[in-house]
Order: sequence, then structure tokens, then C-alpha cells
Amino acid sequence: MSTPLHDDLALAYRSKEVPPVRRIRDGVWSLPIPLVDSALRSVTIHVVETPVGPVLIDAAYDTSGCWDALVERLDGIGHPVESVRAVLLTHNHPDHVGLAERIREVSAATIAIDREDDFAHQHAERGGFLDQLSRALALSGAPEATVDDMYRSALTIARHPESLRADLVLDDDEDLVYGDVVIRAVRTPGHTWGHRVYAVHDVVFTGDTMMPEGPVQLTLPSRPDDAPVRDLLDSLARIRDLGAAIACPAHQYPYLDPAERASELIAQHSRELADAARVASSGATAWEAAPQLTWAKPWAEMGVGTRRFALMQTLALLQSIDR
Ligand SMILES: [Zn+2]
Repeated sequence: MSTPLHDDLALAYRSKEVPPVRRIRDGVWSLPIPLVDSALRSVTIHVVETPVGPVLIDAAYDTSGCWDALVERLDGIGHPVESVRAVLLTHNHPDHVGLAERIREVSAATIAIDREDDFAHQHAERGGFLDQLSRALALSGAPEATVDDMYRSALTIARHPESLRADLVLDDDEDLVYGDVVIRAVRTPGHTWGHRVYAVHDVVFTGDTMMPEGPVQLTLPSRPDDAPVRDLLDSLARIRDLGAAIACPAHQYPYLDPAERASELIAQHSRELADAARVASSGATAWEAAPQLTWAKPWAEMGVGTRRFALMQTLALLQSIDR
């Protein structure tokens, strides 16, 4: 368990409320953006104040509701949206990249993302989300009719633009300099191939990689040599070693001692990997192994979407086992 930075924000999350805007420390703010019709309820955009204008970490969904909420909340802490200097993206999911383009249109903001999550690069290397899904399903060993059902069940969630072009595509760990504020951009693949965390002062913005509650969702393995859990374990170790005092994830709530939380998640995902290795020791496919693993809901009671999710997590585990 993690220790919340502010008890009322943890309480708001657990009571399914959208938390208020909060000053995290000098020069760092969290702006929770409400989501309509989403189980996530909110996604948080973080603000780092710098002498050359505010730098945003992530950019919510591309909806008018998210835009209005962002503009209002930024104004509320004294920053017109036109003054935004940069948008640093933790990864390329639609609840994180959504408003980046619109912010750039009204400001002088530059948009940064990791090479592996840059849409142009990803399309050239792996194809779009649906191409990756169909290759992952093919790797899972599921029967053809199941593969068809699962693919169709993903079509509704997969409809989002993958057209954003970043100004700054990050390859290595880099220090991004804004006046006298230096933000460290650290590669942390696992949730996506190009996930990054950003560290400044004693704070690390962890995107979707390290929530205070629950495991990390793994990316789709669409190539035979993909091993997302191994990537994730390395990434968690790198976050653990950053020496930050406060973690600000994009969902849930900010918490203390990210190193402790990273160690806890390393232990948890290592256990999952060991369980998967036991189940799959006889050379089982993901389709054969998934019903034997432990899930929040029994396999027999899962709908097609939940099964697809469980199957993809199983594939990610199996591909990360040395066998
Ligand atoms: Zn997210």
C-alpha cells in the first residue's frame, strides 16, 4: 500500500469523486480533468511552473469537456492556456495525448514523446493499434472464432486518432531545460513501448506505470520477441532508483515514497511471472494458460472484452518467461 500525499484526495478517489485541483509542492500542481461516461472518472494533467511558462505532463482526452476543464483549471492557478510552454507526454494512449494538438494551436508549446510511442514511428514499426491487436491475438493461440469475436469487441475502444506529430521525439533519457527548471525524461516501457516518467524537484510523474493501487496494465506483445513484463520490471527499478519523494500518477492520487511502491510492484509482477511460468511450463499457449491464472473475476464469468484483456495480459506474461 502507498501512503497518500493528501488523505482527502485518496478518499475522493475511493468514493468515486473527481478530486479538486491541488498544489503538490512549490511550482507543481495537479489538475484532475473529469471524464464523462468513463470508468476512469478522471485523468490528471500535472503542471510544472517554469520561468518560460507552464509545462504540462499529459493532455487528457480530445473532448470539449476536457478542454473546458483544462482551460478553467489552468486559469484558476494563474496560467492562461496560451502561456503553455511544453506538453510532455508519458505515453500515446488517448486519455493522455488528446488535447496536445489543441494546446499547441493556441500556444507556443512544443510536444514531446518517446520514440517508441511516436505514432509515425509506431505505425512504421508495428502498425496502428488494431494491427497490433490482430497480431497479438494471432500469437495467443486462441481459436479463430474467438479471435474474431475479440477483435470485433475492441473496435469501439480502438476508434481514436493516431495522428499527433510531436515536435520533440525522445530517444535516450534526457534532461529537458526550461529556464532554471530541469525535467528529467526517463524511459519506462511496459505499459506501452515508449512510456516515460518525468522527474523534477522531488516529484516523479509516473503516467500509467505506477498507481498507488492495483497492478500495472501491460502493453500488447505483437512480436514474438516482445517481453513487456521484463521491460516493466526494469522500468520499475529505474523509477525506484530516481530518489523522488512524491509520485504523481495520471489516475488515482499522489502518494509518498515511490521507491517503496516500485519495490512492491516489482515483487507483485515477479510473482505473477512465476505463477505464469508454473502454468505454462508444459509449453501452453496464452489461450490455454489464461483460464488457469488468477483474475479479479473467474474466467468462466468473463465477457468477451474482459477475456480479451486477460488473454493479452497472459500473452504478455508468457512472452516474458525464459523458456
Ligand atoms: Zn491513462
